[in-house]
Amino acid sequence: MLRLFAILFEFFLVVVVGRLLGRLVQGLAGGKRTRVDSQAANSSARSPRRTVEGQMARDPICGTFVSTKLSHRLELPAGTLHFCSRGCRDRYEKANVAAI
Ligand SMILES: [Zn+2]
Repeated sequence: MLRLFAILFEFFLVVVVGRLLGRLVQGLAGGKRTRVDSQAANSSARSPRRTVEGQMARDPICGTFVSTKLSHRLELPAGTLHFCSRGCRDRYEKANVAAI
């Protein structure tokens, strides 16, 4: 009976030590992962939401990508929005600007 207890205790020890080691390895891997995340955050912060002339911008109404040089623009205090057509710009204005 005592022997069985000793085996159980040993097994318990192995599980605990195994878990601790697992956590240690996870912690190291997690540290690396957060470093990658911060890099990704930096790169996304570097690409500004406001677009420079001659780039592609997304029409917020229909989702079409339009050239900022050819787009129908809407100047807002928050920045310039680009639309593929006057219809999309009018729809946006009616839905958002009129409410303000
Ligand atoms: Zn559109």
